[in-house]
Amino acid sequence: MRAIRVHQFGDPSVLTVDEVPTPEPGVGQVQVRVHAAGVNPVDTYIRSGRYGVLPTLPYIPGSDGAGTISALGPGATRWKVGDRVFFHGTALGRPYGAYAEFTVNDEDKLYPLPANVGFAEGAALGVPYATAYRALFHRAHAKAGEIVLVHGASGGVGIAALQLARWKGLRVIGTAGSAPGLDLVRANGAHFAISHKEALYLDQIKAAADQGRGPDVILEMLANVNLDQDLDIIASYGRIVVIGNRGRIEIDPRKIMTRDAVVTGLTLWNASQEDLATIYRDLVTGLESGVLVPVIGQEWPFAEAARAHDAVMTQGAYGKIVLLP
Ligand code: NAP
Repeated sequence: MRAIRVHQFGDPSVLTVDEVPTPEPGVGQVQVRVHAAGVNPVDTYIRSGRYGVLPTLPYIPGSDGAGTISALGPGATRWKVGDRVFFHGTALGRPYGAYAEFTVNDEDKLYPLPANVGFAEGAALGVPYATAYRALFHRAHAKAGEIVLVHGASGGVGIAALQLARWKGLRVIGTAGSAPGLDLVRANGAHFAISHKEALYLDQIKAAADQGRGPDVILEMLANVNLDQDLDIIASYGRIVVIGNRGRIEIDPRKIMTRDAVVTGLTLWNASQEDLATIYRDLVTGLESGVLVPVIGQEWPFAEAARAHDAVMTQGAYGKIVLLP
């Protein structure tokens, strides 16, 4: 089969399309024919060699994908050949193994892809939707009627968060850095959208959130830039969830104290199997009913994986980037 592989950590040019043996499913596993693979920022951190846990070289990148069951391993009974599925993480490694024509997975780490959802959209679900769900409901304990600021709403996690928050009855504010990104944020449920490049935009957000009370919840995609200012606008008893961070920042902890605020964070890979099962059950319900509709901004063939990795780290996010075998 064809797979994208990394033989040495480095810039996007280290991504090569190789001919490799097709993986066979082991006990309790299934083989998946991958129709689309999602590109997440974490794929680039791992490829560059700058990530906490690194795979043994060479490895096949990518955690997210969607496709059809192509073979069953011994004792695998949950699926039948031809079933449509999506996944995040594979049996080749939890954040690896998706950028390939075939992958293998434990049969309980796949989720049914509803008939009304395409494979590219299915590849946009895993990390972005599960992260947004866990941030909103398991870490921030967001409730209907509360106000959420999705600080960085035009990308994979942000769009998912907008759709989830609207579905569950929150008031939603979203930011983006480009005009098309802002249009996308509005189209995906934001009651109020504003550019994070505009001067004094946080004042406008605070004013828009219940006449100055501020957001109850902030989902933060770039904490090293925004965390201290988030603490200026968060409502009393508010919760800030650090999802993305690319450096260090100085904050004034007094702001946390005076508001009885909570600053928390998450790493999706820390979610328990039970939490993930709950999350994916609810996501499938939302997909089937049409309230969750992943937005695909760019589709690239495998041969263009390097460009896809460049694109996911470029400003002006517009939904999700996927690779097609
Ligand atoms: P993405 O698709 O590349 O989107 C990045 C988002 O950040 C875009 O909305 C972008 O807006 C926004 N952004 C850029 N500059 C910003 C600023 N100054 N203030 C606020 N937002 C800004 O990435 P993603 O997949 O949504 O992931 C977002 C971040 O979360 C990444 O850092 C990723 O590594 C991290 N993440 C963490 C976890 C976890 O488990 N903790 C899971 C998934 C993702 P414009 O491009 O429109 O400016």
